[in-house]
Amino acid sequence: MARYTGPKCRLCRREGAKLFLKGDRCYTDKCAHERRPYAPGQHGRIRKKMSDYAIQLREKQKVRRMYGVLEEQFRDYFHRADLSKGVTGANLLMFLERRLDNVIYRMGFANSRDQARQLVRHGIFLLNGRRVNVPSLLVRVGDEITVREKNKKSPVIAEAQQVIARRGNPAWVEVDGENLKGKVTTLPTREDLQFPINEQLIVELYSK
Ligand code: SF4
Repeated sequence: MARYTGPKCRLCRREGAKLFLKGDRCYTDKCAHERRPYAPGQHGRIRKKMSDYAIQLREKQKVRRMYGVLEEQFRDYFHRADLSKGVTGANLLMFLERRLDNVIYRMGFANSRDQARQLVRHGIFLLNGRRVNVPSLLVRVGDEITVREKNKKSPVIAEAQQVIARRGNPAWVEVDGENLKGKVTTLPTREDLQFPINEQLIVELYSK
């Protein structure tokens, strides 16, 4: 299945939430969701009563689009979350948070998860000293991510570093902005995720 390549802001407007897909722009008054807080399309302003199924589906789509994960991969994370100890919904979100592209975004080495994914594919990061190019890799406690020496002057990373000040690093990573390296100090927990998500709706959707 192909990855969505259409306008990103349209996804936020469709889900009725800011998904932070466009880096710095998401924090300015140019944000399309803030300027036009209704669904895209001719009938976007018409409010329809949603069925339980539609509500669950929208919640799943919101999270899937936020992390930029394909349906098949998302379902796979759900199965793994279901098999893991603990609460399935929280496990699912933690799997998504531990993805390498997300961690790089959280550390402020990329402006968005999409950009992080692209940079990882270009091989500009080292994971524990070894070059990586798999954005879906799951990080572990103690993992160190470094920008390769020859890419340290990349304007893309410099810009991302300026923007991180607006959103801040999560408590579970330690970042050395000067040397462009970061460490996963502990695994993320549900409480670390401030974004409003009702993961129980996703569990109900997949449990049908
Ligand atoms: Fe979403 Fe960012 Fe576009 Fe706003 S600017 S609609 S948060 S992608």
